[in-house]
Amino acid sequence: MTGQETPPVSGEPDRRWTISDVRGRGSSLEKGLATVHSMLLQAADGSEFRLGRINTSDCEEHKAEIIAVAGPRRFDRCPICLAPDPSSDEHVPPKAIGGSVMTSTCQRCNNRFGSVLERALVDWWEDAIGSVLFSHESVRGARKTSRVLMRQKDTGEFALVLDGGSIDSEIMQRMIAQPDFAMTYSPPDARRYRLAALKSAYLGACLLTKSIPETPEAIAIRAELMAVRDLPRRARPNSSALCDRLSITKSQGPAVPGEIALVRTNPSDGGASEFAISLSRTLMVSWPIGGYLVSVDDKADRDRSY
Ligand SMILES: [Zn+2]
Repeated sequence: MTGQETPPVSGEPDRRWTISDVRGRGSSLEKGLATVHSMLLQAADGSEFRLGRINTSDCEEHKAEIIAVAGPRRFDRCPICLAPDPSSDEHVPPKAIGGSVMTSTCQRCNNRFGSVLERALVDWWEDAIGSVLFSHESVRGARKTSRVLMRQKDTGEFALVLDGGSIDSEIMQRMIAQPDFAMTYSPPDARRYRLAALKSAYLGACLLTKSIPETPEAIAIRAELMAVRDLPRRARPNSSALCDRLSITKSQGPAVPGEIALVRTNPSDGGASEFAISLSRTLMVSWPIGGYLVSVDDKADRDRSY
């Protein structure tokens, strides 16, 4: 990828931008926003633009009817591996995308999924890329930088925002003189983030059915999650028919923490409606555990836009 945009640089007199009106994680009372959701940049000459999330088709509006909502619940076993007396607070979905503590899992499941899978889900959800290397024809070798967020200007052009860290100074100086550089990166691993979404949706289904389900689909999901949990840390999970079937859509927040809802989606293209689980209204995943809908109660007839 050859970048057209240079990130805003502080400390360079010619290119200093004033950043204001920042919305993002930790910047306001809104929960479940990306690390940088939006901000206003103003140049010394008064020109300005707004930087925000990328407009993508998977963030399109979904008309969804809420069928039932789930409350927090603790089970007498870890809902994933069935070990007794789970003691670790489990955010559903992950906290970084607006989840709150909804149940308990065992310590092993809690730790391992967080480090192995959920980081990829958060990166995918907030359009972040990792292992970023910048290179420039007049600098020897590629230079590593921090995690990078893909964003978009209000004029439609793409922009890169460094999530902490900085670009190597040699590369940066040349970028300013001649903004033509190469960038390589790793996008979030789809196998990992789809498994993380499956895990959150499965836990959501446990909460909605107030049980640890015994459907064939639920048993298969537990087996798959357990196999991934016990992989060596750097091993890549196998692709999975279970995960490939899932429909996973994201909404850019803010979140409604604690809202785990069974919804019926009504696609705008007139396709058949389907059941899905809405997690904090930031993530929606197709109903994963098969024919258990009959035991879901607490009907709520509300139309919601995502
Ligand atoms: Zn467990």
